[in-house]
Amino acid sequence: MSPIQRGVAIRNHIPNIIQSYKFSPEYYCHSEKALETSLSQVDLYKDWKALDPGRRYSIDNRYAALPALTKGDIRRNFPRGLLPSGRDIDQGLASGEISLVETSGTTDDKITNIWNQRWWDDCERASWKLNNYMSGVATGDHREAILVNAWNVGFVSDLVDLPLEKRRLSRFLYLNEKTNPTLWSMQLMDRMIEELNTFQPAVLEANPSMLARLCRYISSRNRPVFQPGIIVFTYEYPTNFHYRQIQRVFPVPMASSYGTTETGYVFMQCEMGKFHQNSDFCRVDFQPLLPEHGGPLLGQILVTPFGNPWSYLVRFDTGDLVCLESSGKCACGRNSGLILSSIAGRKANLTLTCSGRLVTLFELDGALSRLNDIDEYKLVQVDTTGYRLHLVSPRGDKSRLRDEATAVLRELYGETARVEVIFSDSILPEISGKYLVSKALFPIKLDGFLDSRYAPEKSSTRSKCR
Ligand SMILES: [Zn+2]
Repeated sequence: MSPIQRGVAIRNHIPNIIQSYKFSPEYYCHSEKALETSLSQVDLYKDWKALDPGRRYSIDNRYAALPALTKGDIRRNFPRGLLPSGRDIDQGLASGEISLVETSGTTDDKITNIWNQRWWDDCERASWKLNNYMSGVATGDHREAILVNAWNVGFVSDLVDLPLEKRRLSRFLYLNEKTNPTLWSMQLMDRMIEELNTFQPAVLEANPSMLARLCRYISSRNRPVFQPGIIVFTYEYPTNFHYRQIQRVFPVPMASSYGTTETGYVFMQCEMGKFHQNSDFCRVDFQPLLPEHGGPLLGQILVTPFGNPWSYLVRFDTGDLVCLESSGKCACGRNSGLILSSIAGRKANLTLTCSGRLVTLFELDGALSRLNDIDEYKLVQVDTTGYRLHLVSPRGDKSRLRDEATAVLRELYGETARVEVIFSDSILPEISGKYLVSKALFPIKLDGFLDSRYAPEKSSTRSKCR
């Protein structure tokens, strides 16, 4: 069955919850404009046109009939196949309106993106209003300290430590110049603490594994440290252990900001802990998993950014799984766009139980968070019933911790799980610069776990967009 047949032939099986979310008329107009410009003017989508059921169908239905856009599609069509007729990349680069940025990662993962700073800034600002603490301190010229892997953002210098003036850029201070946090000396961490104390940032943006590492050091030394107005997590999934270690040192509001280099800021965690869609700047299509794997609330997302004249990505597969908020509401009162109870981790983080059920990073992390005295962990599923858990723990006698961890994993993955617990001094980041918490050593293709009955269908509506 072709996507178009699937999109329109299947009766309405959308979880009721999705229908209770509210989207503005502008949202549908932005959706329509992004779709029609892409299909009519951008080379990459020339084969997609035949799949579009057209204006007789609702915009949700039209999107549902189309495939997902992959990083491979972007790589193959870069740069001219990604732009509408009349938009010249050389002119854009020469005028300084755009630049090219490469995302870090393995060869399969790595792509070059057209970067439009003005659109990015507008998109980021729109995400701030989804969190009261953030909108309270973020004026646009506020001081912001950034603690991330220099491989991802900032200035790289693994061999020598860079002085502060070499790590400043407008209102930002990059606290770290290393590509691997195990290279941090005590002097370097002391420097980070002193710089926080003198720079006094309103916002501390952090890669959670790195900030947790700094916090373990601060706790062990009992050092006083400046408290920012809010800590925002980017780049990585913050584990429960990260949260605990950071909260001990920084009892300030924390929020996760979710986005990608390709799509901008997609979800922001509000002050009540739920995630709200940045719906002025992107469309999100949700594809639920089968009920036995966590659906219909758990699913993958496909993102279509709005309003970037240099980006026409339609249904881009970000590789992430999310969980819809079952009540469809949030106590903060925001009600435009999807509301999530959690970001559930990446597809690359998925593992399987011994009986073949999908386990997200969110579920794994919830199970392991019952353990105490864990600095960091990494779970690798080696085959269908074999699990290798790397633990970093300050506990002296580790034999009891080994038993506790084995019991937790058997409860989650099944009594027949072969669990090996390996204690290490530290866990290194991946080649992408990000800290990897879980993965399987064999491919897990999500397509086989998606619930294809959930093709959105609404009654045919005529477009009211101009
Ligand atoms: Zn909220």
